[in-house]
Order: sequence, then structure tokens, then C-alpha cells
Amino acid sequence: MRVSRLLGRTLRQEPGEAETPSHRLMLKAGLVQQVAAGVYSYLPLAWRSLRKIEQIIREEMDAAGGQEVMMPVLQPIEMWEETDRRRAFGPILFTVTDRKDHVLCLGPTHEEVVTHLVRRHVQSYRDLPLRIYQIQNKFRDEPRPRGGLMRAREFAMKDLYSFDADEAGLEDSYQAMMAAYYRIFQRCGLQAIAVEADSGAIGGKESHEYMVVAESGENDVIFCGSCDYAANVERAQSVKPPLPVETPLPLEPVSTPGMKTISEVAGFLGIPRSRTLKAVFYMADGNLVFVVIRGDLEVNEVKLKNALHCFDLRLATDPEVAAAGLVAGFASPIGLKGVRVIADDSIQLGSNFVVGANRPDTHLRNANYPRDFSVDQILDIAIAQPGHPCPRCGGDLRGTRGIEVGHVFKLGTFFSERLGALFLDREGTQRPVIMGCYGIGVGRLLASAIEAQHDDKGIIWPVSIAPYHIYLCPLNLDQPPVREAAESLYQELTTNGAEVLYDDRSESPGVKFNDADLLGMPLRLTVSPRTLRQGVVEVQSRRDGQRDYLPRENIAQQLQARLRALSSGPGTSQP
Ligand code: ATP
Ligand code: MG
Repeated sequence: MRVSRLLGRTLRQEPGEAETPSHRLMLKAGLVQQVAAGVYSYLPLAWRSLRKIEQIIREEMDAAGGQEVMMPVLQPIEMWEETDRRRAFGPILFTVTDRKDHVLCLGPTHEEVVTHLVRRHVQSYRDLPLRIYQIQNKFRDEPRPRGGLMRAREFAMKDLYSFDADEAGLEDSYQAMMAAYYRIFQRCGLQAIAVEADSGAIGGKESHEYMVVAESGENDVIFCGSCDYAANVERAQSVKPPLPVETPLPLEPVSTPGMKTISEVAGFLGIPRSRTLKAVFYMADGNLVFVVIRGDLEVNEVKLKNALHCFDLRLATDPEVAAAGLVAGFASPIGLKGVRVIADDSIQLGSNFVVGANRPDTHLRNANYPRDFSVDQILDIAIAQPGHPCPRCGGDLRGTRGIEVGHVFKLGTFFSERLGALFLDREGTQRPVIMGCYGIGVGRLLASAIEAQHDDKGIIWPVSIAPYHIYLCPLNLDQPPVREAAESLYQELTTNGAEVLYDDRSESPGVKFNDADLLGMPLRLTVSPRTLRQGVVEVQSRRDGQRDYLPRENIAQQLQARLRALSSGPGTSQP
């Protein structure tokens, strides 16, 4: 491809709207163009790279027994009502109304449609297992589209769905997908770690997310420094620091004028926050919930939402708290009536806590559970924090940020039961099919690859997903010998199947080198009056900047060998 003809210009200026390094570089390199918030056109360079990623995904899905199909974007809303996911997705779901006033949605995911597809074709255990996938654009009306392709409203996803007759079959499918995902990310030059993930409202049993560790990631990941425990903070557990057990003392009021927060109360009374109990109020589908947790811990809203089985969860406002007869800042679980109370199990780790008295400017000392108050549910609803001991080995937990590039999920029979995907087992008993789903965000993978591999000059593509392999960069093109040499090199390389981006513009060397670095193809080939005099071509590796001079003869073969070495070399797969 000739740069002079290529659709998409590199920008000299910094794109103002960019939020992350990959977003900035994709705009600067002319890879994508925003059409609306979270909606993008992919220009030729990005599209070539995306197609390579898709091809890698396809090969690995096919190797893992996947069959590719294409399901519709338009989905009847009734399917989403049968599974109650219209409510669960809420405003994320894009809907349209047709001329007959039927409501349809633009698929944000395809569990409903694929279950509908498969139930016609699966009658007996002999029809199982099945692994069905597609690569298709999904639509989600994200509240905060950001980072370019990272969080878009229209984005390509590979989604595979597995159908098995029993739990052992599901486990096989799950393991096959995890192994395929490992290879996909590795082949794309990405180091992604599998972390335990929340399985949400569907009540699936097991779920893992694949995270690319990056500063700009939107997920907090907790991992152990000693063993391989790793989890999304939404789901992560930890050993909560225990406190010495004391003899319970009698309840006693203490004046705490104006001290409303845990820090204020603890500071005023000269005690650690862990010696207090914190009250936090939520509205769950419109009902007030009183949450109690030890003062040194924070409420994990994902765990809380799962415990409450609710669709909508938000902090309650002061008037909502007051309407329940509670004094905000001094509310107490002691003597409480008519409000649902959910407690974190940390309230059992310690004794003689300071807690609100439900009177202005007053707290109580020596509150002990269950002596002084009762709760409706007690379970782990705390955020695991770096520094806490690991729940598996007791080692030190650490925190990092990650980009979720993929997600695998054991769905069980949630969809097959609701949508009637049944089969006859060996004994002739009718059972719901056991399902799993497995997604990879194709555009997010591309953005993550750039996020993980760039420098201050630009993108550093791994060979496997680089739009082109070679940036042919002749200098002083106005000199006929250079022009001739460059043209013949371009012809020879492309004839031999090399993927070459040929900078045929009459720009200065500075401009061309800057663009070569920004666009980041693995090898830069320089032709200049000097290299011509010496009968060589200059090859520079984008990754390490190493420069060599190769004889002009057999140049295509020599470059192929370099690219092969780069593909298996350090930095391309597991940094
Ligand atoms: P997130 O938590 O980031 O919103 P999700 O958990 O809702 O994502 P899944 O339903 O698990 O997403 O979708 C599978 C994959 O699709 C994700 O792992 C991610 O790589 C990709 N993906 C999801 N939402 C988006 C989006 N808005 N833009 C780009 N890719 C996305
Ligand atoms: Mg997910």
C-alpha cells in the first residue's frame, strides 16, 4: 500500500479528546474516526489489524470445536422478557420500534437468540456437545463510552456459546475455551491474566475475566503475591484482619457532637476505625436497606447487589433515611424495626464496638453482635483490600488495574430452562441443556494491544496483528536512483507476499521517520542515496530500535526470517 493513497492521515497535533494512550495513538495514527459518542469508523490500517485478530480468534475457536454462524443484530424484545433480562439490562439496551409497533432490540449479546437457535436442533444427548460462535457487532448504550474502542456503544465481539448434557461436559467446554483464550491472547502479543469474576444476577457458578494489566484499565484486580489467586475486586475475597476478643461490656451512651463519619467518630474517641461499626443505606429496587460493616472496611456493592437479588441499587438520600425514622450519621442497628438489615461478617470479628445511638450527637459504646441487635442476613459484602491476607494461602494481597478483554462464564440452565432448550438424556429423561458463554471484545483487544505496547513515539505492533509488516521508507525520493530502487524493492517484496506500507511521499526524513514510529510497523526499511552507494538496505526494528544493513540480494527472504524471529522473540507474547 502506498502511503500517498492511504485513507487516513497521521496527526501532528495531539488529539485533545483522547483519554488513554491507546485512544490518543489510534486517533493520531489515523486508525479510527469517531462518528458519534462510542461509535467509530475503522480506517484501513485498523481494519487490517482487526481482521487479523478475528482470524486468530477464528482459528482457535475452530480448533476448539467451534462452529461459526451469524445471528441477527435485531432481536424481538419478547425473548428478553422471557428471561427477564430486559429489566436486568435496563437503559443499556438499544431498542427500536418497527412499522407495526413491535419493539426489537439491537443485540448487546446473544444468549437468548442462540438458545432459540439451538433448541430446534437439539433433541437428544447425541446432539451434544455443541459450540456455536459468531463475530459480530454488539450494541450497548453505555452510560460512559470512553477510550475510543475500549468502551464503545457499537463494538465487535466474538461470542461463543457451549451446550452440554452434563456438568462434566460443561467443564470440558470451559477448559477448552480457557485454553483457546490463552493461545489467542498470546498469539496477539498480549499478556492477559485470568481472574475470578462476579457471575452476577444470572447466578452462574463460575466465571473468569481476562485482564490486561494497564494503568488506564477500568477494573480493580486483587491478586496474591505468593500464590496464583487473582480476582476482580467485585468478587475478590480476603481474610479480614481479626481483632482480639474481649469480654462484652455493658452498652453505654457517649456524646459525639457533630461527629457523623467513621473517621470523625474514631478520631474524636481516640480509637481505631476497626473498633466501630459503620451504617450505610441503600435503596434496592425502591426499598431501604440498612447495611452494617466494620468501620475499617468498605461495602462491595456488587456483592451486596447479588445478596439482595435486586436490579437497581444506589445509595439512599438523607430524606429517604430520615423517612424511615433514622438519624443519618448516628443511625443504629440497635432497636431498629421494619428495615431490612444486611451485615458484613466482619461485625463478628471483634467486640465492644462503637455504633450510632439513633439520636443526634450520640453513639453507643460496647455494641456486640448478636447480643445487642439482629440482622436479616450476614455474609461477606466487603471490598477485599491490598494488604489483607489472601483467602487461599494467607499471603499478602496486592492490587492492580486491568482491562477486561475477555470473559468466560458457566451459565448453567438459566436460559435453557426459561426458553425451553431441552433434550432427552441416556435414560430418556428430559433435561435442560447446560450452557456456557465466552466473549472477547475484538476492538477492545486491539486497543489493549496498543495500550500494552507503545512508547512516546507511537505504536509498537506485534507482528501477528500489525496492519503491515514493513514500512518502506525511502529518503530523497526526488533523486531518480532512489525512486527506482524504492519502486523495485516495493514490487519485489509485494510479489513475494510481504505486507508493505510504502511511504512514497516526498516528505522530509524527519516527517517520514516520525510517521514510521507513530504507525509502528515491526520493521522499517530505509533506502537513501547512502545505502544505494553501499549496495545495502537499512532495516530497523521498531521494538528495540536495533539497526542493521542487509545486502540487497534475497531481501524478501531475509526480511521473512527477521519477522519470524520477531514473532517468537521476547516482548511479542509474554512481556
Ligand atoms: P464491561 O464490564 O467492561 O462493561 P461486560 O462484562 O459487560 O464488560 P461482557 O458482556 O462480558 O462485557 O462482554 C464480553 C467482552 O466484550 C468483554 O470482555 C469486553 O472485552 C467486550 N466489551 C464489552 N463491552 C464493551 C464495550 N462497550 N466496548 C468494547 N468492548 C466491550
Ligand atoms: Mg464481562
